[in-house]
Amino acid sequence: MRYGLYIHIPFCRQKCFYCDFPSVAMAGGREKLMKPYVETICGEIEKWHKKIEEEKLGAPSTVYIGGGTPTALSEELLEKVLCRIGKISIEIPEFTIEANPGTVDLEKLRLLRKYGVNRLSIGVQTFDDEALKRIGRIHSGKEAVEAVELAIRAGFENISIDLIYGLPKQTMADFQKNVEKAMGLPVKHISIYGLQVEEGTVFGKLAEQGRLELPSEEVSEAMYDYLNEMLPQNGFQRYEISNYAKNGYESKHNLSYWQDIPYIGLGAGAHAYWQGQRYYNPVDIREYVSRAEKGDKLWEVEELLTEKEHMEEFCFLALRTVAGINRKRFAEVFGKSLDNVYGKVIEALIKKGLLEDNTDGVCLTKLGMKYGNQVFQEFLL
Ligand code: SF4
Repeated sequence: MRYGLYIHIPFCRQKCFYCDFPSVAMAGGREKLMKPYVETICGEIEKWHKKIEEEKLGAPSTVYIGGGTPTALSEELLEKVLCRIGKISIEIPEFTIEANPGTVDLEKLRLLRKYGVNRLSIGVQTFDDEALKRIGRIHSGKEAVEAVELAIRAGFENISIDLIYGLPKQTMADFQKNVEKAMGLPVKHISIYGLQVEEGTVFGKLAEQGRLELPSEEVSEAMYDYLNEMLPQNGFQRYEISNYAKNGYESKHNLSYWQDIPYIGLGAGAHAYWQGQRYYNPVDIREYVSRAEKGDKLWEVEELLTEKEHMEEFCFLALRTVAGINRKRFAEVFGKSLDNVYGKVIEALIKKGLLEDNTDGVCLTKLGMKYGNQVFQEFLL
């Protein structure tokens, strides 16, 4: 059976100004939570391991340790988690860990390789030191480049970096320099996101006070167009709205989220999708650990999706990928044809140049990728 395993490590050195992920800064005594948290996670992996064996499911096809900053853990704690995963299988086909510059050295990276981690996702965001300070990152541009170089030395071949565009005060020239720098690195995968200003973040507050100086919509759009021209020219093909990869280096784990493949999610704030049901864990680390200590249930069941909601979600997620919605798969999942449900919507979007019919189904055009939200809205039933 194909399924993924996601493990969430919610600790970071400090909270970036734009971040609304379930993560906490390692200050104010929170470091003390790391050990019990890792013990809880290991206990959870063990429980799942038993279930996997009882139900003869086989090892997960992908494992993804995300955060937070998983590499903010000490080597000792990191090794505990890796060792526990290793008891399920020592050969996970795609085993990713997220790492942030400033939290990795050669020894830590070698440790990851030793336990079978074969894909590294490095949070770079920008190489510009001033911009890094402005967004609350803990590292410099030089350290980001060094992190990639160290990863190569440690034996990583499959490296991904994350970038953000539309940062405060970022100019088109700044962004072009960033993309050029990224193109010069030996990486196989790039994720690029436009900055989102979220409520409750430092940037959210600054925006409310009118003190966040962001590039204009035209400049952000020009950045988007530039990256969509430059990345393919340099061998990075887009396979999802925000993800580009050299041939064969698409993230299988992330693709499974968009392809309706089940996944287990362990850790505070993690989500799971298992046997058609969605689950979520409490975001609060203390609550998560204390529930485990008391032997209480660690997850909550999300309301079951109605068929309509499931269809909408299936389409939104599939449309994020270049492959788009597969007609055969839609019929297998829902017992109905895609064209019977969405025929008129598809026809209208094709006329507008936002959608196109490929041999297996329908997918976004280049224009559709740019105005994805407009298309997704039309798929609401
Ligand atoms: S390192 Fe990542 S998860 Fe941590 S605060 Fe920054 S953006 Fe959020």
